[in-house]
Amino acid sequence: MIFMNLDAQLCETGATLHADICIVGAGVAGISLARELMATDLKVCLLESGGTATDTVTQALCAGENIGLPYYPLDTARVRVMGGSSVKWEVPIGGDRIGARLRPLDPIDFEYRDWVPYSGWPFSSSELNPYYNRAQVICGVDPVSFKVEDWEMGEFRPSLSRNSEDVETILYKFGERERFSTEYPKELEGSENTTVLLNASVLGIETSRAGDEVERIHVGTLSGKRFQVKARTYVLAAGGIETPRLLLLSNRQQSAGLGNQHDLVGRFFMEHLHLWAGMVVPDHPNTFATTTMYNDVKAIHGVAVIAKLALTREALRREKLLNQNVQLIPCLREDPFRYPRRKIKKASTSRMSLAGGVVAAGGGGFREVITGSRDLALRGIRQIRKKTFGLPKRAVYVLANMTEQIPNPDSRVILGEKLDAFGQRRVQLDWRITAQDINSIRRTQQVLGKALEQAGLGRFFQELLEDEPPRKTHGGYHHMGTTRMHSDPKQGVVDANCRVHGISNLYIAGPSVFPTGGYANPVLTVVALAVRLSDHLRRQFM
Ligand SMILES: Cc1cc2nc3c(=O)[nH]c(=O)nc-3n(C[C@H](O)[C@H](O)[C@H](O)COP(=O)(O)OP(=O)(O)OC[C@H]3O[C@@H](n4cnc5c(N)ncnc54)[C@H](O)[C@@H]3O)c2cc1C
Repeated sequence: MIFMNLDAQLCETGATLHADICIVGAGVAGISLARELMATDLKVCLLESGGTATDTVTQALCAGENIGLPYYPLDTARVRVMGGSSVKWEVPIGGDRIGARLRPLDPIDFEYRDWVPYSGWPFSSSELNPYYNRAQVICGVDPVSFKVEDWEMGEFRPSLSRNSEDVETILYKFGERERFSTEYPKELEGSENTTVLLNASVLGIETSRAGDEVERIHVGTLSGKRFQVKARTYVLAAGGIETPRLLLLSNRQQSAGLGNQHDLVGRFFMEHLHLWAGMVVPDHPNTFATTTMYNDVKAIHGVAVIAKLALTREALRREKLLNQNVQLIPCLREDPFRYPRRKIKKASTSRMSLAGGVVAAGGGGFREVITGSRDLALRGIRQIRKKTFGLPKRAVYVLANMTEQIPNPDSRVILGEKLDAFGQRRVQLDWRITAQDINSIRRTQQVLGKALEQAGLGRFFQELLEDEPPRKTHGGYHHMGTTRMHSDPKQGVVDANCRVHGISNLYIAGPSVFPTGGYANPVLTVVALAVRLSDHLRRQFM
């Protein structure tokens, strides 16, 4: 066999390539799946729209319109290149390394919850656990445990949630970007059973007349070549926006698009809401020194890790809340008068560090005071103080919230009228946030704030008061739910094996299959599901 990276621009128009398995998209999901299949005799063809480096013309194929809530311009929200969106991961994780936040979904995320419409995966977390373990090795974040006690070391230990029934400390790991952006693409290049075709954009999926089997995939290059790939099995791994787009565009045999007989393709688009709101003013100056686990990325057992806080599953059930985590971000906030501590303390006359509490900017000797009620007098003092010295600052923790959204059929990806360079309809994203999403964040903050106060951390100030999301609420480039998984074809696009209902040889890999998204960033689950799919496909071909 002569397999390698090929530039699709060298293919002849009208040619037909043959494979056992054709994977569309060489991002996190497609690469994970192809690598797992490297150890088999199966002939795999991996079609990637981008090349080895990003270029603006190819990237422009991702452009679309945001017609719902403000969202990132769609051509910046994912990447058309070998390695997919991993090339844009951006978290510094020590040294000059960059990575992504990784965590599995919690067991409750897989359950049917009567307060979360459309909730429930077709299987429980125990089904995915062995694949999460394999996914961690692939992402380079083993040892595989996510138990906080397995990662405690020195000052890196949970100081905030030990005695709380409602709040627990949870662990995040960071996986290195290079694995998906560089190392694994190289491995695939050297693989004997895989042909990686670069600059190969899939333009349509053609089924049998009965619509129950894919017969071929149509591929184009921006330089004008057109050819097709015939395989026994096809896997769409083009990301949570392009995968539903491809199904909707493939409407020759079924006018609503493939897998869309129940009008589900593109619906239920979910993000993780990211917002900074809520604040804790520590009671004790040395508090910051005792919470390093929550503030800094640390390398433990060779893996970069950090801790966050989340509600326990008992609290989620009792309060009927969506899953959410909170990171404590040490910040300096102007105007300590507005955010008094619980106790009266004298401020230091010198500038103090974060670990010390107040930074008495430009002045000093000023009483930090304040227990909250003498507002008028304080306002006067504040005015004079502001005019004379500028407002002093207080070191606080701001709560950085990251939360699940309810699956909402009206939050969706559809086809617009504008066309891309191939003459194909671009997407429109109608992202929605519901009142339940916001109420859940607010109530979670209250439960968490109360627990932190009881634990003696400090005073909690609720900052999310309105029904609207704060203006700076944004997503995390997590495009979930648009081809959701459900055993019932009327409620899901793919079945529990990620096969498109009604089509015998078409599968989907990637975050679009998530029926609910928890709060965990999606990559570890994407990789786990891809590994699980590889096992399933191997069995199919035995
Ligand atoms: C800036 C940024 C930071 C992120 N940080 C994190 C993080 O910290 N943790 C985390 O869990 N997640 C993070 N994510 C999200 C994560 O990268 C995605 O969830 C993940 O990449 C999804 O994998 P995928 O394979 O489904 O899609 P992608 O990785 O986007 O891959 C899709 C691939 O399909 C190709 N493709 C698309 N259409 C076609 C077509 N028609 N024909 C052929 N090929 C096609 C694309 O070129 C691309 O290579 C981040 C994303 C971004 C953009």
